Amino acid sequence: MSAQTVVLLGPPGAGKGTQAAALARATGWAHISTGDMLRAAVAAGSALGQAAKGYMDRGDYVPDQLIVELIAERMAAPDAQGGVLLDGFPRTPAQADMLDELLIRLGREPAAAVSLEVAPDQLVRRLSGRLTCQSCQEVYHLETRAPRQAGICDVCGGQLAQRSDDQPETVQRRLAVYQEKTAPLIAFYRAGHRLTAVDGLGTPAEVAGRLKEAIAWS
Ligand code: AMP
Repeated sequence: MSAQTVVLLGPPGAGKGTQAAALARATGWAHISTGDMLRAAVAAGSALGQAAKGYMDRGDYVPDQLIVELIAERMAAPDAQGGVLLDGFPRTPAQADMLDELLIRLGREPAAAVSLEVAPDQLVRRLSGRLTCQSCQEVYHLETRAPRQAGICDVCGGQLAQRSDDQPETVQRRLAVYQEKTAPLIAFYRAGHRLTAVDGLGTPAEVAGRLKEAIAWS
């Protein structure tokens, strides 16, 4: 993939965060997760966090305008001047257009997208057992990737917790919002010959191997 900006597409629970973090470690590319940035803003109690919290708790999307400002600032940071892995952005057609415009403005190549494909019944199982480190955002799963010590992050020793939006009712809402607002982006990138589909089933290492191949090849 010659693009230096790769969009990881896929429904909640497809493994975008886990894979983006692993790929970033392996390649030195910046991992930009709008979900992580918003959770940090909520934890810090900033104006952005206060504006975003209600939407996130319900499983709805935060308004495009807030996301657009957040991402424009983040893409201007020194560590985002090389390769960038976008995780959880863009999520709406308006955000995808904004990304195209931003990359032109920054003199960067157009983004390419990789869609992680996982059957819907697997998504609920993955999300409901998910635990996230409160400090470094490393992701665990009670069944498939338990931490060595219960409740403690293997990487940084931080506390693990279930995300508030990983409760069953909110998960259903997030999946529905994804279908309505984000799934159309797969067709958008495919139409521009900018999409590679990757099978997201299997162990994290298996999926990582497929993703590396997709990113090196498209
Ligand atoms: P994630 O960690 O990517 O699953 O994001 C968690 C929540 O943050 C989502 O359910 C949305 O409420 C919000 N969010 C993250 N990224 C975006 C985005 N690009 N556009 C709108 N809302 C977002």
